[in-house]
Amino acid sequence: MPQRSTEDETMMEHTTISLTPEAALKAYDGVNLIGGARKTSAATLAVTNPATGKTLGRAAAADAAETDAAVAAAKAAFRGWADLPARDRGKRVAAAGRALGAEAETIARLLAMETGKALRTECRGELTVAADLLEFYGGLGSELKGETVPYNPRMLTMTTREPLGVVAAILPWNVPLVLMMLKIAPALVAGNTVVVKASEEAPFATLQAAEIVAGFLPEGVLNVVCGTGVECGAALTAHPDVAKITFTGSEAAGEIVYAAGAKRIVPVSLELGGKSPMIVCADANLDRVVAGAISGMRFTRQGQSCTDASRIYVHADLMEAFMARIGEELSTLVIGDPLDEATDVGTIISARQKATIDRFVALAEETEGAQVIRSGALPTDPALSPDLFMQPTLIAGLPEDHPCVTDEIFGPVAVVQSWTDYDDVIARANDSRYGLAATVWTTNIATALDATARLEAGYVQVNQNLTIQPNVSYGGFGRSGLGKEASLEAMVEHFTRKKTIVMSFDA
Ligand code: NAD
Repeated sequence: MPQRSTEDETMMEHTTISLTPEAALKAYDGVNLIGGARKTSAATLAVTNPATGKTLGRAAAADAAETDAAVAAAKAAFRGWADLPARDRGKRVAAAGRALGAEAETIARLLAMETGKALRTECRGELTVAADLLEFYGGLGSELKGETVPYNPRMLTMTTREPLGVVAAILPWNVPLVLMMLKIAPALVAGNTVVVKASEEAPFATLQAAEIVAGFLPEGVLNVVCGTGVECGAALTAHPDVAKITFTGSEAAGEIVYAAGAKRIVPVSLELGGKSPMIVCADANLDRVVAGAISGMRFTRQGQSCTDASRIYVHADLMEAFMARIGEELSTLVIGDPLDEATDVGTIISARQKATIDRFVALAEETEGAQVIRSGALPTDPALSPDLFMQPTLIAGLPEDHPCVTDEIFGPVAVVQSWTDYDDVIARANDSRYGLAATVWTTNIATALDATARLEAGYVQVNQNLTIQPNVSYGGFGRSGLGKEASLEAMVEHFTRKKTIVMSFDA
């Protein structure tokens, strides 16, 4: 059989879609991206700019029929895409990464407008990582290797890796572009076609970035639907032509998505919540600890990160110095207009999310012996709506079974607990239904090695709190999820199936 074209130069030279954020808001108003075209949805949902409180635009509210059209487009595109040489698929994905990099500034602005995250501290970096993920996976096409297995000298026994088919990729709002690329880049390079379900709260940057990527792919290989979880998301997870579901979002929705996958017996990857411990030993370097707690808590993302170091266990000897130093540092963060270059911290995504965070803080305030410390000044600019801005908040002195200690708050609120006994603090750190990430801070190598072995989390770091790296697998234990993202392993294990082939030499 002749090999399919190895390179389509026209595709590789595809001109990118240069749109200002304002033009993008018009272009993507009320649309899904289906079969390579923007398709106006029959219904829409308002999307608010959380910093101003004003309506930014309208997201498509895809129903079951529109979702079905996206799956049908992905299904129709599957065979042709899967049959392309894997390296060529990779080259297109890498080229899309470079094109996304060239458009990064405008998309970062759009992202800041819809999520309330600060442009300088968050959104630009998100675009850099998103483009890098496409380039990283784009280079891995030839790594979709099988094995040969010693079995019988008169037989050739081997395994191959095949794409699964149509992948449904469901996204949350907090880091939509990085999370989209963590799913679509390995899925596409492995030969799958994809339907992305954008977050109804932050759909526009997702659509713009996806349209750039789709421009490097045959029609229908990458589609995006927007809408609610209960209508669009549920239609996607129940769809008989969806061969794999990859979901990032809340624990509650993750359970429903997992059940929908179980009903049809299709593989499901879940990246859910977390309540990650940060253990600070008495011998730790306090400068690194304070900087690590601020970056680990993602205070510049308003604490809206699954990996938040949101339970900080500080040795009693360092507690007073730690509280003083971190309070001082947090008070220097500028809270304000996400688009302003001076701003470090933007807004909470929505009134619903803010109300949830406020409920947790109120519970702490009602607790005897608890200290609630807010740092920094709220913005006074009359152009901004004050509703969703929030100061970085530390809560100390809570009992270990308090909801602020046990549950994910997903806001700029960290609990700080004191400890004296090492075995006890390891036990407290592990006493959680989650197991996404953990860090330990010590200058003693034996303590570091012991803690990394005993901490029950999928991503454990020592003396640092880095975010996701493209080549390092990432994923939680327990109710933080199932499966890994990032790395070659994620592409091979989660976006392909293994076929075993046994051939006799005796014909
Ligand atoms: P969410 O669960 O409300 O929504 C996530 C996505 O799922 C949205 O697109 C939503 O429309 C969709 N959805 C909701 N119900 C659905 C259903 N029944 N069927 C199909 N789809 C459905 O989460 P969110 O509020 O957007 O995001 C915040 C959550 O995401 C937090 O809990 C956070 O920890 C988690 N998160 C986890 C990671 C990780 O890597 N572990 C990363 C980022 C965010």
